[in-house]
Amino acid sequence: MFASMMQQPLLVSSLLAHAERHHGDQEIVSRRVEGDIHRYTYRAMAARTRQLANGIAALGVGPGGRVGTLAWNGYRHLELYYAVSGSGAVLHTLNPRLHPDQLVWIAEHADDEVLFFDLSFLPLVEAAAPRLGKVRAFVAMTDRAHMPASSTIKNLLCYEDLLSVQRSEFTWPTFDENTACSLCYTSGTTGNPKGALYSHRSTVLHTYAIALPDSLNCSASDTILPVVPMFHVNAWGLPYAACMVGAKLVLPGPFLDGRSLYELFESEGVTMSAGVPTVWQGLLAHVEANNLKFSTMRRTVIGGSACPPAMMTAFQQRFDVAVLHAWGMTELSPLGTACTLKPKHLALPEEERLAIQAKQGRPVFGIDMKIVDADGKELPHDGQAAGELLVRGPWVIQSYFKGEGGDPLVGGWFPTGDVATIDADGYMQITDRSKDVIKSGGEWIGSIELENIAMAHPGVAMAACIAARHPKWDERPLLIVVKKPGVELTSAELLKSFEGRIARWWMPDDVVFIEALPLGATGKVQKARLREQYRDHLVRGQLQAA
Ligand code: ADP
Repeated sequence: MFASMMQQPLLVSSLLAHAERHHGDQEIVSRRVEGDIHRYTYRAMAARTRQLANGIAALGVGPGGRVGTLAWNGYRHLELYYAVSGSGAVLHTLNPRLHPDQLVWIAEHADDEVLFFDLSFLPLVEAAAPRLGKVRAFVAMTDRAHMPASSTIKNLLCYEDLLSVQRSEFTWPTFDENTACSLCYTSGTTGNPKGALYSHRSTVLHTYAIALPDSLNCSASDTILPVVPMFHVNAWGLPYAACMVGAKLVLPGPFLDGRSLYELFESEGVTMSAGVPTVWQGLLAHVEANNLKFSTMRRTVIGGSACPPAMMTAFQQRFDVAVLHAWGMTELSPLGTACTLKPKHLALPEEERLAIQAKQGRPVFGIDMKIVDADGKELPHDGQAAGELLVRGPWVIQSYFKGEGGDPLVGGWFPTGDVATIDADGYMQITDRSKDVIKSGGEWIGSIELENIAMAHPGVAMAACIAARHPKWDERPLLIVVKKPGVELTSAELLKSFEGRIARWWMPDDVVFIEALPLGATGKVQKARLREQYRDHLVRGQLQAA
């Protein structure tokens, strides 16, 4: 028997309509590419977004048409989020940190018809434009006064001109909630990048999920500054959640250094932020070096790669900012788990609470997870057994865009490529990515745990642990370390700090000190590049002798 409830589709446009109606005077503050601060309200933003929707239609983008963006976190990008998806087209956020060849490949694969870009990316767009055969128009996200001259870009339009000739009347269309609303490509560390094509339904459900208190805990009393880029998995969904709850939104533009972020945190009264660990290093270094404090910031979400416990301690103990460790991936829209403590943990000693917080957390409702061994047999949730993590849920991909790579599912579950444990309370802990795993004498060594110990050493700025070839054990852990400026530190001194904290056979065989770790387009350490360079480090002597 069917129920007798309304059949109202879950649509992205309804988030903006809600914010406009109920939080119309709430602010959105952006640091523009030009360096100045722009501020307006949800009411003003909604009106401009409707103008933009008319503008996009005038460019001939119809339902399902792909609109690419190359843009920082800013109000115009936010307007595109809602205007493109709201009108039934597909927002395709491109990562400007990718190599131009890869960008061209992705934009062509996505069939982008129009490309909107921030002025900082003009050289990139100029280099790519001649090869972007399917793009009809390039729109510089600026006003007439700042319009660049470009001889290589044909059909170069001005964002503010596009809006100014349009009316702000536009009725958001109603359509099936399974219609596509946005498209993000995974970074493709192996093979070509693949697209995750989200639906209105999956996006709205994901928004409810991330706003929950034990999840990212977003509310109307928050001022949210997403450092995580809007070109990386939709800034983890925060631009949608801010509208859903009516939070003040602060968008930092291209200025992601510690000083600029800190200034914005303080001047706008930011209460909550989110980003990958590498971003927080710059901020912490700035705050520590200048003896500063956070006067309004209460918590920050850290995810994208493992948050070292040393970073958690710094935020929580020195600055009274709670860290929320979270795990997700592009294929999951992205949120899978968030790490909040249960009441029974609150009385635990600091050290034990930190050990729980270092885990990636419990699944938010909607995400189902399990771990399996190499034969696909399900492993117990005992916090010990480690196996490949599989997930399913309404905001997990069913297949990649255009069916690329075939059917990714295994018996209805999406294999994440992460290796994890799950404990009896449901806390999941990533021990490795399957491609980063170190297999010594047939046994796994968790590189993340070794990195966390190294990063807890006061002389270490960054550390990565990789598998190096070994004649007897096949692979052994090799630690690659960046020292803090001016620090004297030897391998032996660093390795001493591992003693008693890990099984002896987990001890890294050697430490290599380098100037900087290679970072990928989303700020993660590129272990594949380190492996290329240092894979033979432990056998080099023998190779030379042979
Ligand atoms: P890619 O890095 O391949 O572009 P994503 O940005 O979607 O893809 O990253 C997803 C991956 O990032 C996860 O599969 C996992 O390996 C890693 N990851 C994300 N969050 C965390 C975390 N909190 N701890 C450890 N690893 C994480």
